[in-house]
Amino acid sequence: MYDYLIVGSGIFGATFANKVKKAGKTALIIEKRNHIGGNIYTEQIEGINVHKYGAHIFHTSNKKVWDYVNEFAEFNRYTNSPIANFKGKIYNMPFNMNTFYQMWGTVTPGEASAKIKEQVEQYGVENPKNVEEQALSLVGKDIYETLVKGYTEKQWGRPATELPPEIIKRLPLRMTYDNNYFNDTYQGIPIGGYTNLIKNMIQGIEVRLGTDYLSNKEYFDSLANKVLYTGPVDRYFDYIFGELEYRSLKFETEVLDTSNYQGNAVVNYTDAITPYTRIIEHKHFEGADTSKTVITKEYPAQWKKGDEAFYPLNDEKNMAVYKKYKEKADLEGKILFGGRLGTYEYLDMHKVIEKALDLADEELS
Ligand SMILES: Cc1cc2nc3c(=O)[nH]c(=O)nc-3n(C[C@H](O)[C@H](O)[C@H](O)COP(=O)(O)OP(=O)(O)OC[C@H]3O[C@@H](n4cnc5c(N)ncnc54)[C@H](O)[C@@H]3O)c2cc1C
Repeated sequence: MYDYLIVGSGIFGATFANKVKKAGKTALIIEKRNHIGGNIYTEQIEGINVHKYGAHIFHTSNKKVWDYVNEFAEFNRYTNSPIANFKGKIYNMPFNMNTFYQMWGTVTPGEASAKIKEQVEQYGVENPKNVEEQALSLVGKDIYETLVKGYTEKQWGRPATELPPEIIKRLPLRMTYDNNYFNDTYQGIPIGGYTNLIKNMIQGIEVRLGTDYLSNKEYFDSLANKVLYTGPVDRYFDYIFGELEYRSLKFETEVLDTSNYQGNAVVNYTDAITPYTRIIEHKHFEGADTSKTVITKEYPAQWKKGDEAFYPLNDEKNMAVYKKYKEKADLEGKILFGGRLGTYEYLDMHKVIEKALDLADEELS
């Protein structure tokens, strides 16, 4: 008999499990996949830590969370500075003075602001009804057509004129020569990969891989006083209110016989023709000194039941369905729900840790 059964070994499950152990209680982790780490899992290929479920950069302004993750791994000082490739021309991201110089040759913030104002006034719309109108009213035609349109349409699989304007609430324009994507105080990649980080978090806790909780729920429930479930909430309730929808991704990973393929970890392809949205060259996250390199092309994909779920579609329809599941979940006394799938929420890693630490405080104090 364990104090806690933890379903899922992602960053939520691992954080909670670590706190359970620290509180002197016992835990068993069961994991459906054949590896720990959930979507932040990294696998060594050719001496390079490959981010198997998409590029993951840790960033936070929460010192408590930063100090906490640093207990389990040393972080390097990686700074996320993706670049965009539009038909062979390179632009810095996020939109900043470097981008404006590349786009228009403007040199001072005054020149760039005037250019953006001119563009917004020329093509902007007052009450945007779709993503295209929204983006035009925020950044004008040049930035929209070069860096937003194709990428967004590929990501959502629909023309920008058919996407609701809320998808793009803001398109921040930075009036400094600063390519650092995140505004957070702390940022980095755990040296040795995320799998190592998770391994250190759950050290000394029993883990059963390749084990699906829902295939034998009654038996697993009988093993512990309480259960933390970090899998999909709709699957837990056998889809009684219908399926929650997601956007999915497909990854194509290749080993290349060159030491440096693209000179940056993340290159976005912002045109509509290239079928993938970005290429990740994993060695640049940790500066791996190897003669070969590993790249991953990331393709947005339609999601159907059974596919890997990546981005929840938190629109009105899905949120109404989720509300019903949440009400039911709140009545499941012995079962706690957490993480991106358990609460049907897109959450960055630091937010997941924050929520798991809060839940642990509530539960264990
Ligand atoms: C493409 C992409 C890029 C991202 N990049 C970043 C980034 O740069 N920075 C950042 O901070 N965040 C990023 N994120 C977010 C990050 O991936 C999540 O915050 C994190 O993975 C969520 O962890 P979790 O534990 O909630 O869920 P998961 O990692 O999904 O873990 C849940 C686990 O539960 C297991 N499970 C499910 N059902 C069962 C069952 N029935 N029985 C047993 N096990 C089960 C699953 O197999 C899985 O391992 C990104 C997300 C995506 C999609």
